Amino acid sequence: MPAETAGTRHDRPGVGMVTAVSSTEDIRVRAENALARCGVELAAVKGDALTARTPVTGHDLFGLRADTPAGIDRAVEAAHTAFLDWRTTPAPVRGALVKRLGELLTEHKEYVADLVTVEAGKIRSEALGEVQEMIDICDFAVGLSRQLYGRTMPSERPGHRLMETWHPLGVVGVISAFNFPVAVWAWNAAVALVCGDTVVWKPSELTPLTALACSALLDRAIAETGAPAHLNQVVLGGAEAGTQLVDSPLVPLVSATGSTRMGREVGPRVAARFGRTVLELGGNNAAVVAPSADLDLTVNAAVFAAAGTAGQRCTTLRRLIVHADVVDTVVERLAAAYRRLPVGDPFQESTLVGPLVNEAALARMRESLDRAVQEGGTVVVGGDRQLQDAAPDAAYVRPALVTMPAQSAVVREETFAPVLYVLTYRDLDEAIRLHNDVPQGLSSGIFTADQGEAERFLAADGADCGIVNVNIGTSGAEIGGAFGGEKETGGGRESGSDAWRAYMRRATNTVNYSGRVALAQGVDFSR
Ligand code: NAD
Repeated sequence: MPAETAGTRHDRPGVGMVTAVSSTEDIRVRAENALARCGVELAAVKGDALTARTPVTGHDLFGLRADTPAGIDRAVEAAHTAFLDWRTTPAPVRGALVKRLGELLTEHKEYVADLVTVEAGKIRSEALGEVQEMIDICDFAVGLSRQLYGRTMPSERPGHRLMETWHPLGVVGVISAFNFPVAVWAWNAAVALVCGDTVVWKPSELTPLTALACSALLDRAIAETGAPAHLNQVVLGGAEAGTQLVDSPLVPLVSATGSTRMGREVGPRVAARFGRTVLELGGNNAAVVAPSADLDLTVNAAVFAAAGTAGQRCTTLRRLIVHADVVDTVVERLAAAYRRLPVGDPFQESTLVGPLVNEAALARMRESLDRAVQEGGTVVVGGDRQLQDAAPDAAYVRPALVTMPAQSAVVREETFAPVLYVLTYRDLDEAIRLHNDVPQGLSSGIFTADQGEAERFLAADGADCGIVNVNIGTSGAEIGGAFGGEKETGGGRESGSDAWRAYMRRATNTVNYSGRVALAQGVDFSR
């Protein structure tokens, strides 16, 4: 959402609180309709091993089948067999499949977005935005299918040519988190497919329906374009299903998105069998607010970055490091905006903050707020449960704004909920020190009108994150850039720029057309 849109909403006094919530029955009907429209055969996927649930009411929708270990093995083998064919299909022909997927996602945007709201609780505009992100990465990948460039280099030997070629890697295991239930798969799958790889997707156990819908749309695109069947397999299950992909020798690359805890288990296991990983893990993102910052822009951007998606983005703004000259004003304006934020049913147009994914997330938020107070912080606004009468089993909460006297243990952790800690600084070196003094390194920003300060923040001794912004909040990346973070965020890169290279293997080729043996480095082996 652009900052201006957010601003007009928060600054308008009297925006009503959302008090009613859709019924679980309405949500179930909506989910079944969306699945059917996307081509999912409900009878084939229903079962009693998993439960589809909605955070909108906190209630179960229906039971689903899960994949057995033998079923997961079969899915990996089928994807591997499809790879043997797909790897020699010309890349632009592979692009045609992804083009069709993008068209189908465009035609079914409303339905996929419905499922994102049903399962992840995202407000309508963010759910539609997530599907748009899938369409955008398909566009990118189609172009990429004609641009998988290798380099040529001058050979030191006469009559020789030296070059690099890029080849498909194999089956990519995609493990995804609940909070971007479809975009993360698309970032991986669209790029992997044009690179000549095939995909086995283990979605979050909290969001199986979105995965079934996307997979059905891709299956349709596969059938329509004549691509090999089984290019993309969905396997449903919990962490143990992910572990099976992690340990499979037929999966050369595991792209895993989720908590740092998960990455700590996945990374070493894949490395132990010399597999590759793309790890996209937790963030603890901060923005610096300099005295010269445009405070209207800053407050609007900060409210979206911190409270949008109910604080459940890996790029959510969790720390605001504000210059002492403007901190009181910034806190006052943020608090006013926070008090007015419409928290409620994400299906309703007026809502800006939907539910947390479950009760456990709310409990962790409360625990962090208690710890922040013990560590000397003050909760200025928020943290209180909302809509208890309308949706007693759902986890609605007012986003919390907390001033902290100094860096502390709780501030250095990622709490996956809408808690924004405000810290104060006096000079930019101190701000950058505070900024970098966390284990995570995903996204960052500085709000300033001083170009020197902005450049310092972007420089080698500035922010240590994978994403560094100026006059923009920490969330809401575009697909054109490579996405990912440093330190405990895992170091992976996905999506745009040259992130595709992680999905291919590189071969260095030297061709001798001289008719003579010539060794490199002047070595003479003739007698
Ligand atoms: P999670 O770690 O609980 O689960 C993520 C996925 O990993 C799920 O599919 C889960 O089943 C699987 N999993 C868990 N343990 C596993 C194991 N040992 N082996 C294999 N698979 C395993 O995360 P979540 O609660 O779904 O998502 C929230 C977290 O994800 C936050 O920390 C957030 O910052 C992070 N996240 C990061 C990015 C990014 O791009 N950096 C994007 C989205 C979310």
